[in-house]
Amino acid sequence: MKIAIIGGGFSGLTLAYFLAKKGLKPTLIEKDKILGGLASGFEIAPGIWLEKFYHHWFSNDTDILNLVKELNLASSIISVNPVTSFYYNRSIFRLSSPKDLVHFNLLSWEGKLSLFLFTIRARLIKRFDKLENLTALDWLRQTCSEEVVNKIWKPLLQGKFGTYYDQISAVWLWNKIKLRGSSRDNLQRELLYYFKGGFQSLCEELGHRVARLGGQILLSDEVVKLDPSPGNPRRIEKIVLRSGTVLECDAVFLTPSVPIIKNLLPEHFQEKTQWDIHYLANRCLVLILKKSLSETYWLNVADPSFPFVGVIEHTNLDSPSNYGGKHIVYLSKYLPVTDELFNMPLEEYTQFSTASLRRMFPEFSETWIEKVFDWRAEYAQPIVTRGYKNKLPPFTLDASNVYICTMAQIYPEDRGTNYAVKYAKKVSDLFLERISS
Ligand SMILES: Cc1cc2nc3c(=O)[nH]c(=O)nc-3n(C[C@H](O)[C@H](O)[C@H](O)COP(=O)(O)OP(=O)(O)OC[C@H]3O[C@@H](n4cnc5c(N)ncnc54)[C@H](O)[C@@H]3O)c2cc1C
Repeated sequence: MKIAIIGGGFSGLTLAYFLAKKGLKPTLIEKDKILGGLASGFEIAPGIWLEKFYHHWFSNDTDILNLVKELNLASSIISVNPVTSFYYNRSIFRLSSPKDLVHFNLLSWEGKLSLFLFTIRARLIKRFDKLENLTALDWLRQTCSEEVVNKIWKPLLQGKFGTYYDQISAVWLWNKIKLRGSSRDNLQRELLYYFKGGFQSLCEELGHRVARLGGQILLSDEVVKLDPSPGNPRRIEKIVLRSGTVLECDAVFLTPSVPIIKNLLPEHFQEKTQWDIHYLANRCLVLILKKSLSETYWLNVADPSFPFVGVIEHTNLDSPSNYGGKHIVYLSKYLPVTDELFNMPLEEYTQFSTASLRRMFPEFSETWIEKVFDWRAEYAQPIVTRGYKNKLPPFTLDASNVYICTMAQIYPEDRGTNYAVKYAKKVSDLFLERISS
């Protein structure tokens, strides 16, 4: 049986691995020159890899953690209790544990209690159907004090989703609070995991396993056309690559983002409103510094005067000794691809970014910067609006040999490598069940 998998991110890679384990020999096509997609890395110095966009796992990311164990790589999982903080009104507040909440002077005592009760209540919700038709802001206004909405949640939603902030589904927020809030150790400190050597090395290992099981990986080639069967336009018979190679196929799995899938399958999408899913892009500046900015790994920004959603000091998660003693900081911004900042030339963007950083950390100086890397992703975050459930793309197109496994299907959870693995398992099981019946 000829199986093609389009995309070599975590969805495509794990699909290939699960199918190859069952004795099938899939061909995976990835347009980039390396595997990994949004979780892929780059070399900050020869042999030292880092993710283009900051990555970690939560303790409840069990699908990917179990996959790592199955690959006999559990010894590469690093567990850390990093410091999380909160930036508001030009001040930084540490917020890593319930104890920190007591000293969180940004809020009044009523506000602290309201925030605490809201997070507990959110974590206790099991059925989310009542949240489905609410926006996050509607839900927050019903359950939190005005102070908590205005000082915490509203600026956080604005920072992440920009002008979409008041359309985001309550389900999205509920899940974030539930998953992030329950990734804790016995002392209720946040517990995160990282993969020693970077996520790229895990992707490479998955690629080797697929090849050893008989699968094939084609890099630096792009699927430009899916040719339907002349007898049945819903069946894909051939896949045309940019290199001119034509692959015959009995089944095809599509893992890129929805707009790319729609372009590849125009005859399935005559109606423009079908799978009407919008995304935000992300621009991430990676600063390689001589000095550390602070002890915080994850600095949530809820301050409209600062233009980034987060300042992530990676070397407070994974030791600077693994990066030649350097300190690594990500400045992350979600924005539409049309935004001026997404398209700003690097030099100008760096100046803009470091000026903002100096306002946050007055002791920071440009002389600390050794290198700057600039990464952009067009489809970085599906925008999960109210009633998103009704927009979810199906896992397979009716009466066709086309399977879909894409980030935008992840619901009620938010995208993440764990859910790429979880949903790849779902889709491969669906396929295996179909071919065995
Ligand atoms: C800023 C940021 C931070 C994140 N942080 C975390 C985190 O901390 N933890 C976590 O687990 N997850 C995190 N994520 C999410 C995680 O990266 C994604 O959920 C996951 O990598 C998605 O994998 P995927 O395979 O579904 O999609 P993708 O990674 O998008 O893979 C799709 C692949 O398809 C390829 N492709 C597209 N078109 C074609 C074509 N025509 N032919 C061939 N190939 C094609 C692309 O090049 C790409 O490699 C983060 C993402 C971002 C943007």
